[in-house]
Amino acid sequence: MVPVGAKVITPVAEGRQSPGEAGQIGGEEASYGYAITCDAVLAPPWAAAGPTPGGRADAVSLVHVVEVPERSAARLEPVIGSQRYAQLTQAADRVRQLLAGRTIWNVNSTATGGGVAEMLQALVGYVNDLGVPIGWLVITGDARFFATTKRLHNQIHGDLAGGPLDAAEAHHYTRMLTANAVELLGRIRPGDVALLHDPQTAGLAAPLAAAGARVVWRCHIGVDWENDATQAGWDFLQPHLGSAEGYVFSRRQYAPAWLPDDKVSVIPPSIDPFSPKNQDLDAATVRAVLATLGVLDGAAPQVPARFIRRNGHPGTVTRPAAIIGDGRPGPDDPVLIQVSRWDRLKDMGGVMRAFADHVVPGGGGYLMLVGPAVAGVSDDPEGAAVYGECLLQWHDLPPEARARIMLVTLPLDDIDENAAMVNALQRHATVIAQKSLAEGFGLTVSEGMWKGRPVIGSEVGGIIDQIAAGTGLLLPDPADLKAFGQAVRLLLGDPAEATRLGLAARAHVRENFLGDVHLLRYAKLLGALISRT
Ligand code: UDP
Repeated sequence: MVPVGAKVITPVAEGRQSPGEAGQIGGEEASYGYAITCDAVLAPPWAAAGPTPGGRADAVSLVHVVEVPERSAARLEPVIGSQRYAQLTQAADRVRQLLAGRTIWNVNSTATGGGVAEMLQALVGYVNDLGVPIGWLVITGDARFFATTKRLHNQIHGDLAGGPLDAAEAHHYTRMLTANAVELLGRIRPGDVALLHDPQTAGLAAPLAAAGARVVWRCHIGVDWENDATQAGWDFLQPHLGSAEGYVFSRRQYAPAWLPDDKVSVIPPSIDPFSPKNQDLDAATVRAVLATLGVLDGAAPQVPARFIRRNGHPGTVTRPAAIIGDGRPGPDDPVLIQVSRWDRLKDMGGVMRAFADHVVPGGGGYLMLVGPAVAGVSDDPEGAAVYGECLLQWHDLPPEARARIMLVTLPLDDIDENAAMVNALQRHATVIAQKSLAEGFGLTVSEGMWKGRPVIGSEVGGIIDQIAAGTGLLLPDPADLKAFGQAVRLLLGDPAEATRLGLAARAHVRENFLGDVHLLRYAKLLGALISRT
C-alpha cells in the first residue's frame, strides 16, 4: 500500500470468486493490490443492462451484500498454537456477548480486487465461523464520485494533482453517500457496529451515526509526513469524520493530529496463511508454476501446478507470464525477486540499476522484477508508463546484465491464479526485495517473510514495522544503490545467513501479522466501544 496513481480494479473474471459473492459494482482506490483502470467499472451501475459479472442481479440497488463463506478458524490453530487460538475464541465469545444480538457491518466500495477486499474475504470468513454476527456491504458510486475519491486517495498520499477538491465535488461526494446511507440503513440497525473502510465511505459516518449505529472509520492508507496535498485531503474528510467513535490506522503516524488520541487504534494489515497468495506449496508445485510461467531455463512441469482457490476449490496455473530477458536462471540458481505494481514509488528501475551496477559485476544470481500485466495505455496509463520506462532501461543494459535481469508480467485474467503465481515466485526467491521509496504498509514484505525468505527493504513507512531487527535487512537510504547491491550480494552469497533471517522473518510474521492478531486488536477496540454505551 503506497502512494499511487490509478487504482480502480477491473470487473470480476470468471472463476475468481465464490458463487454467492457480489460482483464489482463501482471501483475504489484499493489500499493494496494491483492497479488496473477500466472504464466499464466507472459506469454508474444503474446503467448496467444486467447482473454484474459474478455478482447478483440487483441492478437498482446501490448497496450490495457480499456473501463470504465461513472459513474454519480452527485451521489457524496448528499455525498459531493452541494458546493463541484459545485467545481468539475467547475474544469471539466476549464480542458476541457484548454485541447481544447486534451485528458488525463492514462497509467498503469493492468486493474484489485489492488488499482490503482480500483481507475482508479472510477475516469476515473467520469471524463468521467464530459465531460473531458480521456482514459486508459494498456501496456504489458513479464515475464522478470515484474520480473524487481517487483524487482524495492521492491527496492523502501527498499528491495534489488537479488541485484541492472544490465545493461541487464535495457536494456530489456527500450526495452519493447520503443515498447509499439510506439503503444501508435498511440493514444496519441502531446499536449495530459500522466499520467503514477508507475515504470512499467517510461520508457515511454522520448519517449512520445519526441513525444510532456505532461508527468506526478504518483508513488503510496514509503517509507519515504532511504537505499541502495531505492537508487538502484531510480538510476534505475532517467534517465527515466527527461522528465516528473510533478511528483505525495501519500506523500511528498516519492519523491526522486533530483526531483525539484515545479514539485512535493502530491495526496493521494481516495476511492469511491459507489464501492462494500464501498457502503452502510444495517444492514440486513451485517448480511446476515457475515452469508454466516460463521463468526457468529448460524446466518443464513434472506435476500439475495446483493450488487451492479462495472458495476452497482446486485451481491450476495454466497461463504463461510475459517475460523480457535474454537468459533464464537454472532451477538452482540464486534469484532476487521484487513483486510490485509498476509504480514509480516501488522503484523497480532502481532495483534494476542497483543489480546491474553492483551485483552483476562480480556477483552471481539473477533478478526478476515481477508485476501485473499492463494491458495497455488505456487500461493503466501509469503502470504501463512505468513498465515502459523499465523496458527502455533494460534495453540499455550491457548484454551480461540483460542475460541476468528479467521483467516478468503476470496475467490478471484469474485473480486466484495470479496470486498462486506470486506465491510460487516468492517461495522460489533466494532473496526478496522491496526497495520502495515510500510505502503505506507493503504487504509483499509480510508475504515474502511468511515464506521464510530474507527481505531487503527500504526503511520507509510500514516496511519499518515489518522488518524487525534480525528478520531481514532494512536499508536507511532507499536511493543508495550501492548499499542495496551490497546487501543483495551478501545474502545471495551467504545461504546460511539468508536461511537464518528467513526463519526469523517467518516467526515475526506469525507473531504479528496473521489474522488472529488482527482480529484480537479489533476485539479490543469493539470491547471498549460497546462498553462505552
Ligand atoms: N500483487 C499481485 N500480483 C502482482 C503484483 C502484486 O497479486 O502481479 C500483490 C502483492 O502480492 C501484494 C499486493 O499486490 O499482495 C500489493 O500490496 P502492497 O501493500 O505490497 O503494495 P500496494 O500495491 O498496495 O502499494
